[in-house]
Amino acid sequence: MLQLRPNCECCDRDLPPESTEARICSFERTFCHSCAEGVLGGRCPNCGGELVTRPRRPIEKLAKNPASTERIFNPQGCAKAVA
Ligand SMILES: [Zn+2]
Ligand SMILES: [Zn+2]
Repeated sequence: MLQLRPNCECCDRDLPPESTEARICSFERTFCHSCAEGVLGGRCPNCGGELVTRPRRPIEKLAKNPASTERIFNPQGCAKAVA
């Protein structure tokens, strides 16, 4: 199951599961829209993969499959990937 992380790893902005601002890579590293499109240039700084819009989990599914509450904040890892 996809981990819906609660914040942007780059700027620590809140990204609730219903947010349309969340971007995610294939390793579930989670960023906000402005970091993803801005400083990161659309690439994950960790794996170099593409960042895509995180799908929103339907609200009725969140009851049984809640979003992650573990905040991951890693501002020093927040630079453009060396493609
Ligand atoms: Zn951010
Ligand atoms: Zn990644």
